[in-house]
Amino acid sequence: MNYVKQFGVKPGSKVDLAKVAASFSKVHESHEHALPEIEQYSQKLHDPQYLMYAEDKRWLLICLQGRDAAGKDGTINRVLGAMNPQGCTVTGFKVPSKDEADHDFLWRYHRQTSAKGQVAIFNRSHYEDVLVVRVHDLVPKEVWSKRSAQINDFEKTLADNGTHILKFDLHIDPEEQLERFKQRIDDPARHWKISDGDYAERPFWDVYTQAFEDAIGKCSTEHAPWFVIPSNHK
Ligand code: AMP
Ligand code: MG
Repeated sequence: MNYVKQFGVKPGSKVDLAKVAASFSKVHESHEHALPEIEQYSQKLHDPQYLMYAEDKRWLLICLQGRDAAGKDGTINRVLGAMNPQGCTVTGFKVPSKDEADHDFLWRYHRQTSAKGQVAIFNRSHYEDVLVVRVHDLVPKEVWSKRSAQINDFEKTLADNGTHILKFDLHIDPEEQLERFKQRIDDPARHWKISDGDYAERPFWDVYTQAFEDAIGKCSTEHAPWFVIPSNHK
């Protein structure tokens, strides 16, 4: 199966997230069953990253987006964890600090893009500035509506200067999210992961969907493609 073809968003195409089966699991009926394939791809991540680190010439930027409990943290830990930490930086982007908010919206992201030979992983990214910002009216429409084009320019600049960019939306459905929230409440070791804010976002599910579809559709480009990954099954 060609995952790139299956999950990649063609530049210029219209995105309909309702058509992406969040429960897709290929032929694997369990995590254990998928382990050999996971192992194989882990190696495929590890070896080129080692070469890239040794070569010290190019850059890789991975942006992870997804709703609360979509599995961004777990993906960084268990999938991207296959890479040598010496060649990686991980940055999680939260509500901007006063200092960050005092700059143009791309400032805080640009500072964290990769150095040569390095993989930079963004746990949330500049796409928050067209997602949460849009859903909650944090800036006027005339400001956020210009941002897809600004993001495309930003990513083109990075790409033209040697950065390979890959963007992933971890796609779950509302039932799966609720189930994961419940597990976080029931399991003391995972309490820290849940906040009131997570439940407060749920009524905005469809508005987020609209914002995601717009952003992914407008900003999936040859040099910085989006992939929508079915993520109900970890
Ligand atoms: P978490 O990733 O669960 O730790 O939560 C981080 C929170 O920060 C999420 O609710 C994001 O929506 C929020 N956030 C991230 N970037 C921005 C931004 N640019 N503006 C406003 N909120 C943001
Ligand atoms: Mg959260």
